[in-house]
Amino acid sequence: MNTKTTKQTVSRRAFLSGCAKSLGGATAAGLGVPALLAARDAPAASPAAASGPATAAAPVAGEYDVVVCGGGPAGFVAAVAAARGGARTALVERYGFLGGMATAGLVAPISVFNLNGRRVIGGIPWEFVEKLTAIGGAALDLPRGNVTFSPEKYKLAAQRMVLDAGVTLHLHSYVTGCRRRQDDGRALTHAVIENKNGAQSLAARYFIDCTGDADLALRAGVPMQPAPENLQPASLIFMLGNVDTDAIPPNRLRHGLPGSQDTDFRAVLQELSKTQKIPLFGGPWYNSTLAKGVVLVNITRAAANMADNRDATAAECRLREHVHVFVDLLRKHVPAFRDAVLLTTATQTGIRETRRILGAHTLTGDEYLAPTDFPDTIARGCHPIDIHSGNNTRQRADRLQKPGNVPYRCLHAPGFPNLLVAGRPFSADEVASASVRVQASAMSLGQAAGAAAALCLPDNRDVSRLNIARLRETLTQSGAIFD
Ligand SMILES: Cc1cc2nc3c(=O)[nH]c(=O)nc-3n(C[C@H](O)[C@H](O)[C@H](O)COP(=O)(O)OP(=O)(O)OC[C@H]3O[C@@H](n4cnc5c(N)ncnc54)[C@H](O)[C@@H]3O)c2cc1C
Repeated sequence: MNTKTTKQTVSRRAFLSGCAKSLGGATAAGLGVPALLAARDAPAASPAAASGPATAAAPVAGEYDVVVCGGGPAGFVAAVAAARGGARTALVERYGFLGGMATAGLVAPISVFNLNGRRVIGGIPWEFVEKLTAIGGAALDLPRGNVTFSPEKYKLAAQRMVLDAGVTLHLHSYVTGCRRRQDDGRALTHAVIENKNGAQSLAARYFIDCTGDADLALRAGVPMQPAPENLQPASLIFMLGNVDTDAIPPNRLRHGLPGSQDTDFRAVLQELSKTQKIPLFGGPWYNSTLAKGVVLVNITRAAANMADNRDATAAECRLREHVHVFVDLLRKHVPAFRDAVLLTTATQTGIRETRRILGAHTLTGDEYLAPTDFPDTIARGCHPIDIHSGNNTRQRADRLQKPGNVPYRCLHAPGFPNLLVAGRPFSADEVASASVRVQASAMSLGQAAGAAAALCLPDNRDVSRLNIARLRETLTQSGAIFD
């Protein structure tokens, strides 16, 4: 397999330009995004600077040891790990619930805990699956170790886990910036958030960016990876009711066994597209919510940089139109969906790929697939290298022979002493990221980052100087698996 597919051409400018535009001029100008971008993009996109309260003036709404930004799979697990490590921990989330793509994006299943029938991922991610199962919200699909789940119970289980650990939640709060220490421009002192109270700041000694899009890291001035020429597409997932779920083959609803894609309907769509205009599609894949008659459908697909607000807005509108086209086609061509009704679309279009930080180490596809035995391995992944095309209906899904390793150095950037990044935006090329981005491994990165921040606390340690042996020992004690 050729893993040297990273194309560092472009798009770097276009991609970062999109990033800076979506952040608003205040960020670009004041918080360390390269001056080139600030100068070029600020005039076109500076409403926050013009109308929002100044970042420096945001009153302090809480003082913590660790602030985790983003309550998706990586973020809520990071918060639990930090709090269990003894840190006074806050978790900031823009929605009113936790789960990120799993709940707001209706992305299912949780992939994957097993390789070749053997469990690869343990620790807090696995504990979460057990808790979700205990409330009737999850079912493990063997041998792959995908987890089918109820999105509503996912929200509940994640919330309980976080609150039980003693984490303070700041929901409905959007991370918009940060403040840095005067004497050392790169150490963060506050995360700045916006909510109905206006701008607020949260003081902390360590920060973990789990926003999926590296929002905090970008605002802090962390350099980003060159973007691939084509980002993986965005997909708006929808939920259908009144489906004859008994008529759908089990492996198409529960992804434990191969063959989850509805190749029959795919063939119909391919045939139809020869004579009429069919929106771009992927899969299609159906996912159970564990409720009879209810199915999540992953079929829509749009090439979009979801970290650019104009692109994201266009994608949301376009895909909403496409959802209704596909619902009609499903009703017409797939007997199980004949009487289906659209219950809801996801709260937001699902995002597979946006920014990734340029960390102390960038995990490459070659290293991940070898797999390289890093001295500072703190997480593993076993999902295929899963790359969807934004321009056509294809998907590259290369199975791993062995679990891949992720070193701790991919979670921090040189010179940023108290910032960790976990989940989708960790430092990797597009190949390694295409496996690690999925939920189980994203959660593992979150656990490692949360535990690391707590371990740094006693002597105010720079995150890059953490005692790795202690971190691995802490992770192993809580069930993480490294062999
Ligand atoms: C269509 C699609 C299909 C997928 N299929 C699968 C699959 O089958 N199995 C699988 O395991 N994974 C799948 N994935 C991938 C997986 O869902 C994500 O990669 C994973 O959720 C990443 O977790 P995360 O915590 O890093 O980021 P996210 O899940 O994106 O969570 C980020 C969180 O941060 C919050 N946030 C973002 N910005 C801010 C801000 N500025 N302020 C405050 N909060 C903020 C968000 O609301 C969210 O809660 C799929 C993804 C997509 C889009």
